[in-house]
Amino acid sequence: MVKEILEEKEPLVYACLRNDLKEDRLAHSYLLCGEKTPLKLKTAYLLAQSIIENKKDFACEECHTCKRILNNNHLDVLFIDGKDEIIKKEMIDEVLSEFSKTAVESSGKKVYIINNINNSSPKVLNMILKFMEEPSNENTFGIFISDDASGLLETVVSRCEKLNFTSCDFKEIKNEYLESGVDEFDAYLLSETIHEYIDDLELYTTAKDFIIKTIDSLDDPQYLEVMYIKELYTLKEFKEVSDYFILMIIKILDDAISNHYIGNEEYDELLDKVKNDALALLEIYLDAKQRKDNCLMIDRKLMFDEICCKIIKYKNR
Ligand SMILES: [Zn+2]
Repeated sequence: MVKEILEEKEPLVYACLRNDLKEDRLAHSYLLCGEKTPLKLKTAYLLAQSIIENKKDFACEECHTCKRILNNNHLDVLFIDGKDEIIKKEMIDEVLSEFSKTAVESSGKKVYIINNINNSSPKVLNMILKFMEEPSNENTFGIFISDDASGLLETVVSRCEKLNFTSCDFKEIKNEYLESGVDEFDAYLLSETIHEYIDDLELYTTAKDFIIKTIDSLDDPQYLEVMYIKELYTLKEFKEVSDYFILMIIKILDDAISNHYIGNEEYDELLDKVKNDALALLEIYLDAKQRKDNCLMIDRKLMFDEICCKIIKYKNR
């Protein structure tokens, strides 16, 4: 059960929440931040279940109500995710107007969970702030999740009870992949970069193919540009694939620099191939990632064009 995992992995967060529940001193907003771990989202649901169950303790996690909450099938618990798209004003509008009505189900409390809240504009954050401050919303609780709290408005952070996650154990996720039949290479790279278990590996596989092609054509970077224009930019899921690409190549380059071989022939060969260029490439890709993270609307084609230019320049130095 999640509460047991939480107690073991994040004893501080566990103690803090248990205390709030026992003393009936729940904060109106919680910010779950820190290490990229799927435990943050699981904890958010556990907290929502506990608020709705209202027993001055962690929820049972087993009853019908708890299961409905976990399946986003409970009228008083709403879930918004900024993982794949920027959280828009309209999305929040809908939640907040829904929430100004009284609770539909028997607990009388309402909870909204916003995952990846860092992926929203200051305007949206301000809207949430205003909502949080209205006295009429005293039975409404917000749970915000962000891998990186540093990009959030200070005014938002300061109004939340901050729960900092420090454990970063991807072994479980890797095992989940291995058990589902994924090979060592993919299980390793997926768990280390995406940090969660996903069923559909199509985007990942496409991104991985482009990484292998990229590394194979480093000695002929002009070809790289042509290949990106013809094959990468034309993908329907170019945005998603390019995001996976950046995350994954950074991990591979990092491993190549630190000689982090994993004992998988295919992966270790890839590290050997890229080893001599790894430092220069890492700088190029980290720079791209940083600019991407700082600008939600970044033109990804332009970003890849620039990466190509830098690689060509580096290779012709
Ligand atoms: Zn329950």
